[in-house]
Amino acid sequence: MQVLLYLVACANNNLPIHVNLAEENMSVATIVHGSCLCGAIIYEATGPFHVMVHCHCSRCRKSTGTGHATNLTVAPSQFRLLKGEDSISRFDLPRAQSFGKWFCHTCGCPVPRRTRDGTLIVIPAGSLDSDPLLSPTDHIFWDSRASWGCSQGALSVHGGYPESWRKHGGNK
Ligand SMILES: [Zn+2]
Ligand SMILES: [Zn+2]
Repeated sequence: MQVLLYLVACANNNLPIHVNLAEENMSVATIVHGSCLCGAIIYEATGPFHVMVHCHCSRCRKSTGTGHATNLTVAPSQFRLLKGEDSISRFDLPRAQSFGKWFCHTCGCPVPRRTRDGTLIVIPAGSLDSDPLLSPTDHIFWDSRASWGCSQGALSVHGGYPESWRKHGGNK
């Protein structure tokens, strides 16, 4: 897994700089908090985060109700659920290898989920309450996007998963 953190160097101009997170740089790790819409579920995650991307696949569109999902990922050891375990509903899409959705059963808000193989926590960026000091780097599943979806902007696009992810199997 690529371990790069795209730090926002200056909040005023949003200029991203690339920081290689070698062991000695772990002190820059960011702690973020997030919650669901009704506040029943609260979590904390500690960087460095693996990736932050916009996913335009049809599953992400349906599970978010929007043009794309924006997710970031961390190792399970970097994630802590602070409140609301009993409020989480879990749905694993049966025909998918790994795709699923965890959400608050009171307000329906998507919340972080552990992948089925247990190796990754996928955090829906919209559930964050604090700035992850990270910006999306890529549009993935661009070939599946809706015609009314957002434009490419300055980000890289990939028809499906980026080639560099293939050895990790993705999370579909
Ligand atoms: Zn809720
Ligand atoms: Zn997707």
